[in-house]
Amino acid sequence: MSSALRRAALTAAVLAGPVGWVTVAAWGLPTALGAHRRRLRPVVSGSPHFSDGAFHNTLPTPALAPANTRDGLLRQWHEERHVGLPGGPIPLERPELPDDAAELAVTWFGHASALLEIDGRRVLVDPVWSHRVSPSPVFGPTRLHEPPLPIEELPPVDAVLISHDHYDHLDLPTIRSLLATQTAPFVVPLGIGEHLRTWGVPEDRVVELDWDGAHDVAGLTLTCTEARHFSGRYLHRNTTLWASWAIAGPRHRVFFGGDTGYTPAFSGIGARLGPFDLTLLPIGAYNDAWHAIHMDPEEAVRAHGDLGGGVLLPIHWATFNLAFHPWAEPVQRLLAAARRRDRTVVVPLPGQRIDVLDLPPQRDWWTAVGSTAGEHPASSSGVGSSVVARALTRLIALLPGA
Ligand code: ZN
Ligand code: ZN
Repeated sequence: MSSALRRAALTAAVLAGPVGWVTVAAWGLPTALGAHRRRLRPVVSGSPHFSDGAFHNTLPTPALAPANTRDGLLRQWHEERHVGLPGGPIPLERPELPDDAAELAVTWFGHASALLEIDGRRVLVDPVWSHRVSPSPVFGPTRLHEPPLPIEELPPVDAVLISHDHYDHLDLPTIRSLLATQTAPFVVPLGIGEHLRTWGVPEDRVVELDWDGAHDVAGLTLTCTEARHFSGRYLHRNTTLWASWAIAGPRHRVFFGGDTGYTPAFSGIGARLGPFDLTLLPIGAYNDAWHAIHMDPEEAVRAHGDLGGGVLLPIHWATFNLAFHPWAEPVQRLLAAARRRDRTVVVPLPGQRIDVLDLPPQRDWWTAVGSTAGEHPASSSGVGSSVVARALTRLIALLPGA
C-alpha cells in the first residue's frame, strides 16, 4: 500500500470513533462523557495542583514522548495492535465471598477492579463491569473476559474508591448499578464528584479529596495520594484529578496504585502512610511512547519496595488490550523482576479471592493463555485505549492533508 493510501486507511479507522459517537449522541450517550468543564471549576480551583485550567503532575509528564510521535506510533498501531490479544479463553473463578469480611483479603475482577477486605470492612476500587471502555459504542477496547461475578452479587461495601476518570477506571453503567445496589459513598479525587453528580449520585454519597486529603469511613482511613498520570473522558484533559489511594484499618494497610507512571512520590507515601501489607500496582499497557504515565512491571516492583509493600498484586493487565506488548508479558516480566529483588507477588485468576494472610501456592495459569497470542487479527478487541485513541487523533491532525 502506498504511504498516502495507508494514511488514508488509518485516518478512516481512527475517524470511525468520533463518527460512531456522533451517530449515537442523540441517544444520550454524552452523559458518559461526564460533567461540563465549567461545572468542574469551583470544586477544583482551590487545589495547589490546579493552575491555568488544569491539574498538573509534580514532575514534568509528557503524555507522549516526542521521539515516538507520529510515524513510529502510527506504524506500531498499524502493524502491532493485535499483539496484545490472548491466544485462548482467559480462565475465570466465581468468587466465594464470605458474609463477614476478612482481616486481609482481595478479589481481583480483572484490570483495575478489585474488592478489598481490610479489618472486617470492604472497599471496592475502580469497578468497571462494562463490555467496552470508551465514549464510543463502536470504537475502543472491549473485554477479553467476562466479569467473574454479576455486579448485583457483590456484598455490601463500605466505600467505593475511584483513581481517575478514564473509561477503564470510571464506568457510568457500573456507577448506576452501584447506586441502586449499594449504599456506600464514592470517595474520589477532586473534580470527579461533578461527573458523579451529573450522573445522579446524591451529594451525601460523594466525597472528593485532593492529594493528601483523608476521609474516615467505618473505621478505615482512606487517603488520596499522588499518582503520575492524566485525566479526561473526551476532549478536555486534566480538568479532574488522578490519584492513588492508601487504605488503613486498625491492623492492616493496603495501597491501591490505580493508573500511574513511576514516581519518586511513592517513597514519601510509604514513609508517611505505610508500610503496606498489600499493594495493588499497575503493570500493563506500557510503551516507550507513554512511559511517563504508565509504569512497566520492573517499575512496579521498585514502587512496591518504595512503598514498603508486603504482597504485590498486579493490576491493569489481562482484561483490555491497551498497548502493543504480548498479553502475558506484563506478569512474566513482573515475576522475573520480583524474583531478583525477593518480593512476594500473587497473581490470581480474575475472580479468585485471595486470603493475603494465607497465600495459596502460585499456579502459572497465564503462560498457556498467552502462548498463541496475536493469532487473531480478525478480533474486534484491538488497541483502542483512551490513551491510544487520543494519541492517534492528535497524530492524525499532524498528517499532511488531514
Ligand atoms: Zn488512565
Ligand atoms: Zn487505565
